[in-house]
Amino acid sequence: MTEIYGIGLDIAGRCQHYHQDEDVAALWCAECQRYYACYQCHDTLCDHYFVASKIGSLAVLCGVCRHRLTTDQYQLGRCPYCQQWFNPRCQRHYQIYFEE
Ligand SMILES: [Zn+2]
Ligand SMILES: [Zn+2]
Ligand SMILES: [Zn+2]
Repeated sequence: MTEIYGIGLDIAGRCQHYHQDEDVAALWCAECQRYYACYQCHDTLCDHYFVASKIGSLAVLCGVCRHRLTTDQYQLGRCPYCQQWFNPRCQRHYQIYFEE
């Protein structure tokens, strides 16, 4: 099972910052080469700011089924494997997580 890093994580990778039912998407830091529950967890745990992943890469991990998702799959709004919805408010942070 692919590991998710973060602070106070539950079984589906929800962290102390984002813990609604739908907050299960973990994000890939291109520098660490790991998935983090959110950029705030990352920036607390690491000595650099979160480094965005390329759009089209496997930048997202579903915390429920632990399948890796492309940014395109993620932007459909729900996991194509387990049908879990993702939190649409994460769109505010796209520029932190993804880059062209
Ligand atoms: Zn990093
Ligand atoms: Zn967090
Ligand atoms: Zn899933």
